[in-house]
Amino acid sequence: MTHIPEEIKIKRIVNGAFNNLLDNINLLPNELSILAKNRAEVCKSCELCYFDKTLQSLRCGKCKCFINWKVSNKQEKCPENKW
Ligand code: SF4
Repeated sequence: MTHIPEEIKIKRIVNGAFNNLLDNINLLPNELSILAKNRAEVCKSCELCYFDKTLQSLRCGKCKCFINWKVSNKQEKCPENKW
């Protein structure tokens, strides 16, 4: 059996979680969907974004919010002013 390094496993999980997030974002009304997609792309490359294994969710390491909720709420702001 091939050993897959932990780092690669985590990367796959995060990518999978982001793909799910984008699928859900596509279901939003157009204007909100564009906003949420742009924000999600920023979070995806942010060093503070992490996958919470216990809650099986992408979260912001700064404010601890759930990324899916945060990016799709107009009034939300990135605590690091990245979006
Ligand atoms: S909300 Fe801001 S600080 Fe938090 S993960 Fe996204 S880009 Fe990073």
